[in-house]
Amino acid sequence: MGVDLICQEKGKVCSFDCVYCSLGKTTELTTKRGVFVPTELVARELKKVMGKVEADVVTFSGTGEPTLAQNLGEAIKVAKEVLGLPISVLTNSSLMMRENVRRDLARADIVIGQLDAPNEELFKRISRPHEKIVFKDVIEGMKKFREEFKGKFSLEVMFVPENKAFSKEIASIARTIMPDEV
Ligand code: SF4
Repeated sequence: MGVDLICQEKGKVCSFDCVYCSLGKTTELTTKRGVFVPTELVARELKKVMGKVEADVVTFSGTGEPTLAQNLGEAIKVAKEVLGLPISVLTNSSLMMRENVRRDLARADIVIGQLDAPNEELFKRISRPHEKIVFKDVIEGMKKFREEFKGKFSLEVMFVPENKAFSKEIASIARTIMPDEV
C-alpha cells in the first residue's frame, strides 16, 4: 500500500528532476523540508482503510521525494501503529546527509535509495538535482545511513542511455555503500 506525503495539486515536489521520471517534470525543485500532508490526516485516512485492504507492506513514495516531508518519521510511526505492517520508503537519497532525515528514515524497516550516476557530471545530467545537492555528499549520506540503519537498505539503479556504459563504476560505488541488495 502506498502513502504519498507530498500530494500537492501543483504537481511534483522533488529535489531532483530525473530524466526518466514517470511523474513528468518537477514542478517545485527544492531541498526545503515542510509539512505537505498533516500527520493527523494520514492517521485518519489509514484508519479508514484499516481491515479493508490486503497489504504486505506500506510504502512511502508518492508524487515527489518523501524525505522532503518534515513529518515523515511521525507518519511512519502512525502507519506502524495503525496498520501493524512493515514500512518501506523509496527515496532519491539526496537528503541523507542530514541527521534529521536519517533519524526519520531509521523508523522504517526497509529503505530503498537511488543511485543512478557514477560521477557529478552524469548525476547532473540524469538526476538534474537542485543546485545545492552535490554528488559526493549524496554518497556520503548513504554511507552514513548504512552505518546507522538496522533495517534492510537496498539500492535501486535505473539504467538509461546516459549511464548504461557505466555499470561497473556504479557497482564500485554501490560496494562502498554496502547495501543489503542492489
Ligand atoms: S527522484 Fe523520483 S520523484 Fe524525483 S524526479 Fe527522480 S524519479 Fe521523479
